[in-house]
Amino acid sequence: MDIEEVAFETRFFVDGDWRKAPRTFAVKSPIDGRVLAEIADCGAEEAKSAADAAVAAFEKWRKTTAYDRAAILRRWYELIIRDAEKIARSITLEMGKPIAEARGEVRYAAGFVEWYAEEAKRLYGETIPSQFSHKRLLAIPQPVGPVYGVTPWNFPAAMVTRKAAPALAAGCTFILKPAEQSPLTALLLAQLWAEAGGPPGTLAVLPALDPVPVTEVMMRDERIRKITFTGSTEVGRLLYRQAADTIKRVSLELGGHAPFIIFDDADVEKAVAAALAAKFRNGGQVCVAANRLYVYPKVKEAFAEAYAEAVRKLKVGNPLEEDTQIGPLVDEAVFEKVTTHVRDALSRGARLVFGGESGGGLYFKPTVLLDVHPQSRIMREETFGPVAPIVSCESDAEVIRLANATSYGLAAYFWTRDLKRAFTVAEELEYGIIGVNDGVPSTPQAPFGGVKFSGIGREGGHWGIEEFLDIKYVSIALT
Ligand code: NAD
Repeated sequence: MDIEEVAFETRFFVDGDWRKAPRTFAVKSPIDGRVLAEIADCGAEEAKSAADAAVAAFEKWRKTTAYDRAAILRRWYELIIRDAEKIARSITLEMGKPIAEARGEVRYAAGFVEWYAEEAKRLYGETIPSQFSHKRLLAIPQPVGPVYGVTPWNFPAAMVTRKAAPALAAGCTFILKPAEQSPLTALLLAQLWAEAGGPPGTLAVLPALDPVPVTEVMMRDERIRKITFTGSTEVGRLLYRQAADTIKRVSLELGGHAPFIIFDDADVEKAVAAALAAKFRNGGQVCVAANRLYVYPKVKEAFAEAYAEAVRKLKVGNPLEEDTQIGPLVDEAVFEKVTTHVRDALSRGARLVFGGESGGGLYFKPTVLLDVHPQSRIMREETFGPVAPIVSCESDAEVIRLANATSYGLAAYFWTRDLKRAFTVAEELEYGIIGVNDGVPSTPQAPFGGVKFSGIGREGGHWGIEEFLDIKYVSIALT
């Protein structure tokens, strides 16, 4: 399939309608800088129309049966699977993810739609035994109302479905502002929602070059009852503050700084493969990416050698080619940050094992650094690039202290064969997601989310739909 074969939608989607905006902006591919499409650049006016439509549609959508909503979601899932290749290519073209991985993202993204099509039918309330014989007490789940969602560019399909599917299943309407780098995949998903029979106003997609005008309208509108955001901690903090004025419900999936610990009893071979996936998936541009590797002295040499060898073999290149494992970084800003982190670590005495430099354009060579100083920026800040810093560590108490010495708390990984260690370390680590001998724990059935500066709330599993529900208490007196 050539680039031209993906016919991109260039309008925005509101009230079941595709509309042109007065302004447009160019979506460029990080692969070669070419313009993929000139698309609608939404602002305050477009946002107001989307809010009105979402509010009007909510009154009908909330009253549909869970079975009707489930059937539409199920069709959406089937259409995403039908168009998987087209969506995967859209992901690769707009943000540079290797095509094989982009196909994996589409399956993962579709998995949330499938899961929440099923969960829609499981929104049980509760009856509560009353202390009074003449009363009957009920707790009934109800949709929170119209929702505003803001998503990042690193998973252009999955970040959308992980929010929109549970919201729609719960009976909420959903207005999405996708990242400016990756709006094309979101528009494709909206086309499929309409084809699946999603009623007008239930889903809106508002691409915007500047996120602020659309967001201001949504945050000030007291009819929008929830904000769900995935992105940086900095922007999450801003939205959290803005949500206070209209007391919106808030879910925040923010940045991370995952430690990856290889204990002295680890299966080194398996740990190498897992650490490769946990670090280099999507070129390291993953919120749960391993940002720092702690290795016990007994296995350090064997691990570092095998790891460097595996990294050396990673195929860097055009992400549209089938066997490419590392594509370009998404933009200059990410490229600059990665370069700065490597330079800073080297200036503080780290040893360069492999890589460490630009591969031309937005490509950065997969990099392994050894004996990185704990004060290095890469050990404290989210890198979002293909750089693995390896550090020695002597005791469980020390490694737990180092692993927890960060404001982030999204994901942590460790490798051990000791059952006692598996439990105690999992309990000690201050993170929302723990991978024990597992470098890729995220899945639609399980809760995903962080503690501390990594966010509030959970996506996935039954927890993911509860974020879009209020509990209504009904007390019935049998007079
Ligand atoms: P970002 O915060 O810059 O942007 C994310 C989204 O917020 C985009 O849609 C952007 O347009 C919007 N945005 C930016 N400034 C805004 C403002 N002032 N008002 C309203 N919206 C605004 O983050 P990014 O660079 O796109 O994504 C990378 C970050 O996302 C990383 O920190 C990563 O860890 C995080 N992330 C977290 C998860 C998770 O589930 N926890 C998943 C993926 C990415």
